[in-house]
Amino acid sequence: MPMKPKILTTLELPSNALEKLKEYFIVEGGPDLIKDRVNLLNSLKDKVGLLTAPHIKVDKELFEHAPNLMVVSTYSVGYDHIDVTEATRRGIYVCYTPGVLSDCVAEVTWGLILSTYKRISEAERIVRARKWVKGIYKEPLGRDLKGKTLGIIGLGRIGRRVAEIGRCFGMNVIYYDIVKPSDADKLDFQYCDLETLLKNADVVSVHVPLQKETYHLIDESKLRLMKRDAIIVNTSRGAVIDEKALIKALKEGWIMGAGLDVFETEPLPLDSELLDMENVVLSPHRGSASIETRTAMLNLAINNLISVLKGEIPPALLNSDVVKVRPLNQTKVI
Ligand code: NAD
Repeated sequence: MPMKPKILTTLELPSNALEKLKEYFIVEGGPDLIKDRVNLLNSLKDKVGLLTAPHIKVDKELFEHAPNLMVVSTYSVGYDHIDVTEATRRGIYVCYTPGVLSDCVAEVTWGLILSTYKRISEAERIVRARKWVKGIYKEPLGRDLKGKTLGIIGLGRIGRRVAEIGRCFGMNVIYYDIVKPSDADKLDFQYCDLETLLKNADVVSVHVPLQKETYHLIDESKLRLMKRDAIIVNTSRGAVIDEKALIKALKEGWIMGAGLDVFETEPLPLDSELLDMENVVLSPHRGSASIETRTAMLNLAINNLISVLKGEIPPALLNSDVVKVRPLNQTKVI
């Protein structure tokens, strides 16, 4: 019997997922690989597929160590960790997990909005510090959402869901996006430019992908446009906001607070000033971290990988141009 083709993963896989992959492949690797780049690179030589996540850089250096690689399947919708142009040039299929996590990330975004704007985390810290005193609760007071303006930066899959939930809270919703949606006329949300959004929103929520164009999209000059009693929430990627400028804005009171799931460096460095700031709600990049969503993401990531290596169109292909470099009949190894 011919040997099964080999794939590498940097994920810790549950047994059912591992069993499914083992039907077709010899599966090597595991979460320890993310700590040891040299070992990761050396492990790629004989692999046809890589099942991974944003915890590693999938760049030219990695591809150079992977002469047999035909598919990278990432367990994420964000793909800023992958050099997609280089992958396409080399005929490597890049697959991701759009859609299945949008509701979950939108719900986590709302968790951060509520926690920051209603100051729930700060209040919880008072109780835990055993400082809850008898009498009517006074400080810190939160703010009400109803009638306020929600500003969405990036009205894609996640941004749109955050906007819909905002309407349920009785908020007026405005948005900015590089592409005006085809159904813009039918939406219950108002399009505006970025500056207008920042000047008018009480709650700003960031949902653009991290790219060259969106790196530090929200810099000091943009933060200075925001209202003093507004908050900003980020569940996209840390580097979309200039974190140094954000810390300055929070310290000097240009804005009221921030709810952050993502950071310029992750895990958040232990000396980050954010850790000691009361007006910040911190979350360890867990926007998609629910049982249902993580299961759906893993299923999609595995189906993507298996499909390409069966020579079939995967459910979520990012670089469709790759078929011109390596047609699907050349990726069939199982
Ligand atoms: P999407 O592609 O559906 O939406 C992104 C939107 O941003 C699109 O409408 C696009 O037109 C817009 N956009 C792109 N470049 C822009 C620019 N320069 N200026 C303004 N708008 C721009 O993506 P999505 O599925 O909604 O995911 C959004 C991002 O959320 C992902 O790229 C990822 O980085 C992040 N994310 C984070 C987590 C988490 O755990 N915190 C989980 C999933 C996704």
